[in-house]
Amino acid sequence: MIFAGIDIGSTTTEVVLLDENKKILATSQVLTGFALEEAAEKAFAICCEQVGCTRADILYSVSTGYGRELVLAEFADEQYTEIACHAKGANYWFPEARGVIDIGGQDSKAIAINDVGGITGFAMNDKCAAGTGRFLDVMAGIMGLDVGEMGRQSLLATKPVLVSSICTVFAESEVISLLSKKGTDPHDIMAGIHESVVRRVNMLVQKAQLIPPIVMSGGVAKNAGVVKAFEDVLKTKILIPEDPQSIGALGAAILARNKYFSKNNLN
Ligand code: ADP
Repeated sequence: MIFAGIDIGSTTTEVVLLDENKKILATSQVLTGFALEEAAEKAFAICCEQVGCTRADILYSVSTGYGRELVLAEFADEQYTEIACHAKGANYWFPEARGVIDIGGQDSKAIAINDVGGITGFAMNDKCAAGTGRFLDVMAGIMGLDVGEMGRQSLLATKPVLVSSICTVFAESEVISLLSKKGTDPHDIMAGIHESVVRRVNMLVQKAQLIPPIVMSGGVAKNAGVVKAFEDVLKTKILIPEDPQSIGALGAAILARNKYFSKNNLN
C-alpha cells in the first residue's frame, strides 16, 4: 500500500510516500516557483521513480501548505492545514515532543501537541516577514552568504549585536549600517540577525505555552544559528528531526494513511 503527502510551500514543495506501516518509502523536494502544478508533478515523479510506482498506485493522498487547495483535485484526495501536518510529522520522529516550532519561508508557527501528535494549542505569524525564512534569506543576501553558511558562521560570534528593527526592510538598512561601523565583527551581526528571528518567534512560543521537549521543523530548522539562539532563549535542547523541511509532507502522508485506514475499517 502506498500513501502520499504533499506540502506545497511558498519556497519548496515536498512529497513523502509511506507504506501501510508508516515506513517512509520515498521523499522529494523541488522549488515551488510560480507554477504550482508543475512543482507538484515533478515532486511526485521523483518519488514514484524511487519506489517504481505510478501516481495511480497511490491509495490516498493529502495536500498541505499554502498551495494545498490549488493541487487538491489533481494531486490529493483531501487537504489538511500545515499545523495539523507538522504536529503529526514531528510526533512521528519524537513521540515525546509536546511542542513544535515550524519556521518556513513566509510564516512561523508554535504548536502545542499531545502524545499522538494532536494539536492542543497554537499561535502563528503569517502577516510579517520578520520571524520567517524570508527575513533570513534577505539578511544572508546582504552578508553575501548562503543562508545555511550564515547560520554556521554566526556560531563564531562572541558578542551578538542587537538588531532592533521589527520590519524586514528597516532591519536591512540597520544591518547595512552596522556592517559599515568599524570594529563590528560580522559574526556578531549574524548572531544578532538570528536572535532577532528567535525573539519574534518566541512570542508565538510563549503565546501557545509550549513546553519541552520541543521539535523544530521547516527549512529554518536547518539553520544552526537559529537553533542555537532558540536553545539559549528557551534553555532547552531543541530536537531536530531527520529532513526537517519535509515534516509537513510526512505529516500529510500519515494523515492520508490514517484516513484511508479509518474509511476502510482497517487498523
Ligand atoms: P515553505 O514551506 O514556505 O516553502 P520551507 O520550510 O521550505 O518553507 O523553508 C524555507 C526556508 O528555509 C528558507 O527561507 C531558508 O531560510 C531556510 N533554509 C532552507 N534550506 C536551508 C539550509 N540548508 N540551511 C539553512 N536554512 C535553510
